[in-house]
Amino acid sequence: MAELDTRPVPVAHPRKQRHEHAWLTESRHPTSEGVLLYVRCASCGIRRVDLQAHPQAPPGALSHEIERT
Ligand SMILES: [Zn+2]
Repeated sequence: MAELDTRPVPVAHPRKQRHEHAWLTESRHPTSEGVLLYVRCASCGIRRVDLQAHPQAPPGALSHEIERT
């Protein structure tokens, strides 16, 4: 009997889907440069490190998004 080509159709990994990350601050660490914010997306679990230079300033992304291992 001939085998049909049953390779699974490539499906985008759900965690790779583009979405607006819902960053949650996991921890914050005051440094001389400002406050380091360790944030994690509540939706996909990706992590990022932000630096908030001033209390009133919006944090800027220090790192690229880091995938959870
Ligand atoms: Zn996300």
